[in-house]
Amino acid sequence: MGLLNRQNVVLLFGAPGAGKGTQARFLAEALDVPHVASGDLLREHRRQGTELGRAAQKYMDAGDLVPDELVINMVLDRLDQPDATAGVLLDGFPRTVKQAQALDERLGSHGIQVAHALSLDVPTEVLVERLSGRWLCGECHTSYHTVFSPSPAGPDRCGNCGGTLYQREDDKREVVQTRLRKFLDETRPVVEYYQRRGILANVDGNQDIESVRADLAKAAGAGEKQSAAA
Ligand code: AMP
Repeated sequence: MGLLNRQNVVLLFGAPGAGKGTQARFLAEALDVPHVASGDLLREHRRQGTELGRAAQKYMDAGDLVPDELVINMVLDRLDQPDATAGVLLDGFPRTVKQAQALDERLGSHGIQVAHALSLDVPTEVLVERLSGRWLCGECHTSYHTVFSPSPAGPDRCGNCGGTLYQREDDKREVVQTRLRKFLDETRPVVEYYQRRGILANVDGNQDIESVRADLAKAAGAGEKQSAAA
């Protein structure tokens, strides 16, 4: 049973554009635990055409949360896998208070609890800037960013093949703002749940990648674990 031993269950929260995907991979490696992203698990179910995948599809396509009763068991079952014996880095779960309570109950039944809940914080205006600056080539699909990696051929021309650049509908500024607002509204109660429990650490995500990486590892006690093992 995966959950019986010393568990290092760490949660990572972060808005779209906060850099959570990149940092989650680093952090899981530093903690030496698997990175479990509920979105990836759901996409895998869809790819395999399972009943769960089919049930989740319409919610995911609309950008809505998949109902708790579908998501909770899927993630909790993943925690019982043998590779999760030492712990797990959860990304994208819990997204609702009900999911957080179900996680607590399951961990509690094994005499353990969430070790750290980390919130990767980036000011909303920076997130809007990051997300709404993306332009893609309609021909060769090269991706550019108006500020961070502009096309050398000009704002609407691809530097790779000369094709015309376009902006995806959901990368448009107004849509991005709506996506972010929705994310913050949804996630706030869950983040506050862990804040009340005194295990929330806020990490500044508006720094260079290496500094964010170091701060997250520190907040998750990755260094402590390494020195304890040494
Ligand atoms: P993500 O890859 O985390 O952005 O998730 C992609 C989509 O999967 C989300 O927009 C939701 O539809 C669904 N999803 C992922 N995790 C959860 C969760 N914990 N609860 C409900 N829906 C989720």
